[in-house]
Amino acid sequence: MRILVIGSGGREHALCWTLAASPLCDALFCAPGNAGIAQDATCVPIQAMDIDGILDFVAKEAVDFVVVGPEDPLVAGVVDRLSEAGVKAFGPSAAAARLEGSKGYMKDVCRRYGIPTAEYRRFTDRDEARAYVQEQGAPIVVKTDGLAAGKGVTVAQTVEEALQAIDDAMTGGKFGAAGEELVIEEFMEGEELSYFALCDGKTVLPFASAQDHKAAYDGDEGPNTGGMGAYSPAPVCTPEIEERILKEILEPTMKAMEAEGAPYKGVLFLGLMITKDGPRLIEFNVRFGDPECQVLMMRLMSDLAPALIASADGVLSAFDLRWYDEAAVSVVMASQGYPGSYEKGTVIKGVEQATEGDEDVLVFHAGTAKGDDGVLRATGGRVLNVTARGQSVSEARTRAYSVVDRIDWPNGFCRRDIGWRAVERERE
Ligand code: ATP
Repeated sequence: MRILVIGSGGREHALCWTLAASPLCDALFCAPGNAGIAQDATCVPIQAMDIDGILDFVAKEAVDFVVVGPEDPLVAGVVDRLSEAGVKAFGPSAAAARLEGSKGYMKDVCRRYGIPTAEYRRFTDRDEARAYVQEQGAPIVVKTDGLAAGKGVTVAQTVEEALQAIDDAMTGGKFGAAGEELVIEEFMEGEELSYFALCDGKTVLPFASAQDHKAAYDGDEGPNTGGMGAYSPAPVCTPEIEERILKEILEPTMKAMEAEGAPYKGVLFLGLMITKDGPRLIEFNVRFGDPECQVLMMRLMSDLAPALIASADGVLSAFDLRWYDEAAVSVVMASQGYPGSYEKGTVIKGVEQATEGDEDVLVFHAGTAKGDDGVLRATGGRVLNVTARGQSVSEARTRAYSVVDRIDWPNGFCRRDIGWRAVERERE
């Protein structure tokens, strides 16, 4: 089978590394990929949002199956366009991808079908939004309706902060069209959990749990980022919580999307708050998380390719996945300055040597490129994901940091406390 992966981050490197090992995979391409992905797949210079370019490539190279990494092409309808062209793809249709593409839609689906989430209201009028915040008080959460690369959410501790967020989005144009409509919702208290399931339109196949670290610096301080690290499994996801997630959120969502005329296929990534009343939904994402995907792929024992194909074919009910018992931790190495401005093109040395002799550690690449001179350079904010397996989160994390310390990149930084919650629990 000839497989194309769309995307260029650490998530896509982890997917390519996993798919390349599948006996089903005869040829693997990645559009556009990066320097690390080039070790596992043939990278082709087509951007993830160049849907026409992707369709041309798929026809020319007789690609049988496409795996879409990021959300933007999904929301833009890449899976619909591929299926019109007769090509099988892993991921939801544009209609189903609205679960991530529009927070207002996602909240309305939850309300219509009784899926537990924060109370909310939708606004297109600034004065009404301001009045609502004044009436509700703080803490309160202000969200742009559309995709804003993780930056469209303000968890406001004061009414003033919430009013500022409303003004920035609605009159300041900070998020463009994505901020013309807002969702304002109740603040939920608890521990956050990421939960992943494969879906085929009807059936849900539980995948795995993870926790990520969004803040840039140790102690969960500093600005929010795309994610500075992750670990799996998440100890907060007890068998009882997992059962409730399945029964109260995932299964009703499958039924809801069927009733909406947009059956959900692909991976459904639940952002959850584990509150004192049980799991409540913060958000749906319609793709694997990055860096969560990296830890999930390190823990997966079964062949991924047939499971993704079964999701697209609607035959997941026949499936069972096997996992290594070990935990996995991924530490993101980022360019100094990220998530603000940072220098591009800085030289990284010693990546291949850093993992020599340790099969339980892999370095997935995100923003990297190799020039004609063969030198590895950082091209983005998040650059390398050092991902390790171990008997416990503590062991996996020690392994990951020992590889981080062997990588020679003076312009990079990472958090030193990835997995701290799990490590604290393991010490108890
Ligand atoms: P991303 O996809 O990068 O996680 P996003 O822009 O889709 O971000 P959300 O996941 O909805 O936004 O929110 C981002 C973060 O804000 C959450 O991970 C959570 O920490 C916090 N948050 C969002 N909604 C709430 C809520 N109702 N109560 C408490 N915290 C919240």
